Amino acid sequence: MAVRRLIPLAVACALTAATAVPAQAGAVERAPFCETHKCIALTFDDGPADYTTTLLATLKKYKAKATFFVIGNRVKKHPKITAEIAKAGQEIGNHTWDHKYLTDLTYQQIYKEISDTQKIIKEATGKVPVLFRAPGGLRNGGVEEITAKFGMAQIPGTVATKDFIKDYRDVEFLTGRALEIAEPGAVVLMHETVKETIESLPAVLKDLTEQGYHFVTVSTLLEGQKIIPGQVYPEELPMAVD
Ligand SMILES: [Zn+2]
Repeated sequence: MAVRRLIPLAVACALTAATAVPAQAGAVERAPFCETHKCIALTFDDGPADYTTTLLATLKKYKAKATFFVIGNRVKKHPKITAEIAKAGQEIGNHTWDHKYLTDLTYQQIYKEISDTQKIIKEATGKVPVLFRAPGGLRNGGVEEITAKFGMAQIPGTVATKDFIKDYRDVEFLTGRALEIAEPGAVVLMHETVKETIESLPAVLKDLTEQGYHFVTVSTLLEGQKIIPGQVYPEELPMAVD
């Protein structure tokens, strides 16, 4: 209840107005999927890479959807694999052209990193990403402004297996990490370039499926929320980043 009182008046009015609009003839009113289901959004960064095809097969086996934050120069090298990700119904997000830390770049350089990547993803898949993740999670006002121009939300993730740490690269350990940090509504940051992450995934998907989780894309997770381009989502982190 305390949370409700914090909703600004304009937003509260918009919500009331939205719920008051009668459904169009023939339209089926449906609550966003994740309002009625236990959802988790797995995300895989830095591809397309050597293990993308294996990863897609594992996701398919568990009827899992996920989000791939791809690097522009890798999409250029692997347009067919990128197209396969999209064809499989997985979501693709922009993770810059060459994974430079954006806080080290000028506004124009950041613009080019993001713009070139949008173009190459569109070329490979026919779709324009609406999600962005900054390398290393490093963002500034320029990143916010530019992603807003491209109509993208920023998705840093809410939890991470931290598979970028060399000592963590053990299949059993990463399986345990993923299960430990999983929470309804979480956006889990992993890397599709890490072999042990790919190998841990069948056990992770099996266990979380048994726990009643649905594996959804970030866009499905955010469905029903008002998304302001350039801003960071999920708005309220379900837990502290571990
Ligand atoms: Zn990355």
